Amino acid sequence: MKKIVVLGEIVVEIMAVDVGQSFRSAGSLVGPFPSGAPAIFIDQVARLGQPCGIVSCVGDDDFGWLNIERLRADGVDVSAIRVHPELPTGSAFVRYDADSSRDFIFNIKHSACGHMALTDEAEALINGCDHIHVMGSSLFSFRIIDVIKKAIETVKAKGGTVSFDPNIRKEMLSIPEMRAALEFMLEYCDVFLPSGPEISLLTEADDEEKAIREILDMGVSSIIIKRGSEGSTYIDREKTIHSPSFKVEELDPTGAGDCFGATYVTCWLRGMPVEDCLRYANAAGARTVTVKGPMEGASHFADLDAFIANTKTGA
Ligand code: ADP
Repeated sequence: MKKIVVLGEIVVEIMAVDVGQSFRSAGSLVGPFPSGAPAIFIDQVARLGQPCGIVSCVGDDDFGWLNIERLRADGVDVSAIRVHPELPTGSAFVRYDADSSRDFIFNIKHSACGHMALTDEAEALINGCDHIHVMGSSLFSFRIIDVIKKAIETVKAKGGTVSFDPNIRKEMLSIPEMRAALEFMLEYCDVFLPSGPEISLLTEADDEEKAIREILDMGVSSIIIKRGSEGSTYIDREKTIHSPSFKVEELDPTGAGDCFGATYVTCWLRGMPVEDCLRYANAAGARTVTVKGPMEGASHFADLDAFIANTKTGA
């Protein structure tokens, strides 16, 4: 089976309990939950039984070890998670509004997660993998960008593949080096996994159709657009396939895109038809939003099969 490696941040997430609860006043919190988009992604890959690992860095503290222990227990190769002796593990605080929007406070920039490095363990993991996945959220540090570029060059040189989920923070687009890193990823990825509105953010195009054409012209072989409660769409040069979402009650949207992407990439690397990849990925995304906590709703194939058999589809 093909081995998938992700490179990027690991953090803990701490969540406000009540909808509308402010960050400034006292209120109940839950967590810490293991988190960080790359960590959620790779945990979902592991739960599907695919060989996988993560290159990252955490602090030598309970938040760091909580993550390492969860990922290890779920089957992720954690040998390339560096444990930084001085810096703390990154953290994210999240609050929710009634319209299901969220606000975050991130303590990431000055945490251990910016100190990922090409250690011997990281090189061994990258040399032994078939596929690299990258998230736009990880491109906040030049050190990380450098490690990611080297990893991609290594994997591409031996015929491996790359997927990229831009999960763009808009402020990144105004920083030339960050924009350049996003563009580098577009140039090198085979599978591009944007959320609906992101598709137009990385090109000069003023509508989705033109943006899709520009991105395919850059050499991306397939684009899979995540559309929240409206399912997902696959596009390549020959065809477009839409797959409807599953009807669920959304409790917490965090992790849906990461679990969707992880499931799509795993199914794709196993050679499944596009329709099956999309169906499984939609199911993984939908199951995630029904559970509070970033990776608490990650699924095994048996969960997905049962969910698909018992849940109505929508848009
Ligand atoms: P991202 O978090 O990257 O923006 P989405 O919110 O689009 O990604 O979620 C990824 C996928 O998860 C969607 O394409 C869909 O299949 C599923 N999903 C997300 N939200 C819902 C929802 N409310 N109901 C059903 N499925 C959902």
